[in-house]
Amino acid sequence: MVVVINKEAGTSRNGEQSAVLHRHLNHQFLPLERAEGNYLYTAHGRKIFDGSGGPSVACLGWGNERVVDAVTKQLRSAPYCATIFFTTRVAEELGRFLVDSTNGHMARAYIVNSGSEAMEAAVKLARQFFLEKSSPEPQRTRFIARQQSYHGTTLGALAIGGHAYRREHFEPLLPQNVSHVSPCYAYRQQQTSETDEEYVARLARELEDEFQRMGPDTVCAFVAEPVVGAALGCVPSIPGYFKAVKAICDKYGALLILDEVMCGMGRTGTLHAWEQEGVAPDIQTIGKCLGGGYQPVSGVLASHRVVDALSGGSSVFVHGHTYQGHPVGCAAALEVQRIIQQDNLLENVKDMGLLLSKLLVEKLSSHPHVGDIRGRGLFWGIELVADKKTKAVFPSAAHVSMEICERGLSEAYSLSVYPAGGGGAEGLQGDAIIVSPPYTVTKEEIEMVVTTLARMINDYFEVGTM
Ligand code: PLP
Repeated sequence: MVVVINKEAGTSRNGEQSAVLHRHLNHQFLPLERAEGNYLYTAHGRKIFDGSGGPSVACLGWGNERVVDAVTKQLRSAPYCATIFFTTRVAEELGRFLVDSTNGHMARAYIVNSGSEAMEAAVKLARQFFLEKSSPEPQRTRFIARQQSYHGTTLGALAIGGHAYRREHFEPLLPQNVSHVSPCYAYRQQQTSETDEEYVARLARELEDEFQRMGPDTVCAFVAEPVVGAALGCVPSIPGYFKAVKAICDKYGALLILDEVMCGMGRTGTLHAWEQEGVAPDIQTIGKCLGGGYQPVSGVLASHRVVDALSGGSSVFVHGHTYQGHPVGCAAALEVQRIIQQDNLLENVKDMGLLLSKLLVEKLSSHPHVGDIRGRGLFWGIELVADKKTKAVFPSAAHVSMEICERGLSEAYSLSVYPAGGGGAEGLQGDAIIVSPPYTVTKEEIEMVVTTLARMINDYFEVGTM
């Protein structure tokens, strides 16, 4: 069922039916005319601050001339490359940049167009690793992922994900060899009597039990987002969690796949979110802030261990896309990454992230319907609850965060932020708003975003200024 949450929805602004198959068929879409700096402009002359870059896509804001030039130049020189026989300078340079950025952990980059494609490739690469390694283990076909995770929309990626709402329309999903354990979600799942160490130990035991239940030598990989994005709303793990799960993967010989499509490429203050966890994955996916929205470009990074196995075996990754390593996507990504480095933007992510978290807590934490405020860098989630004390959620059909974000686009606020969570299984139904401005965001803009967001939330619940 498609839930239409906009009460005025049903017609487009000028009464025309959209010819595009959108996610919400009857939704009233705003006609986007152009985007410049950190603002979006509609065809009707409205100016909206882009406080989340859609689903955390924008890292440089919009209209960056250097990126536009790099893309145009590539379109003029080699707009396409048949990667079966050819490679391009931009693809090689991007691959080199990405590999070098991992402090020796990763050996090769595989560039595709979307995060879902990257996750599909990651899963197939992990499967192939166990066929090609010096002592092959073809029985390792199973995956353990986490409840309320989102890893993409294609059937394989959807099967890995554990977001009930996104899966339920398509059950039974193709691969039935995925199981899900609890995410590290302190707000809802850490017991009040439990220390961080005890909570991590409990989650580690659950994962270990799941390995045992599935048959440890049948598990190919454990899959997780270092900071959970769309399905929960910017939930980082607590210290020690990823070290504990990596140790379990190592103990049972399984790979660790980290999905950094949403939280990676600088969004949390380090280029890779795993740098803050003290572990490196065997396979990593990246996406949104790789190309900052200037081109559809995503990727997979494969560790030496994985690449070496393929090199010693068939030396072919049995996977490919017409548009893989697309030169225009690579040109955009390369330029975006150069700018992030040259302009020292990760420092701004850290500084502005601290300010954002401070102001969000100051302005919103005492609100009766704000249950939790969490995040890292410029990736923050505000979880909304029906009852602050019991953490009771709103009935899922209400999808409160979606309604607040939609109203935010109106003239009264002119702020674009992103709804997340909702539609989870029992105990995981959080409903959150994501604030994830570009890495170029200024102090004044952060102040404006938080003030406006507080107003949006207060007005929605008709609570006076806090
Ligand atoms: N993985 C994560 C963590 C995501 O957040 C997303 C998209 O939001 C995806 C994968 C899928 O990426 P895409 O929508 O580009 O296919």
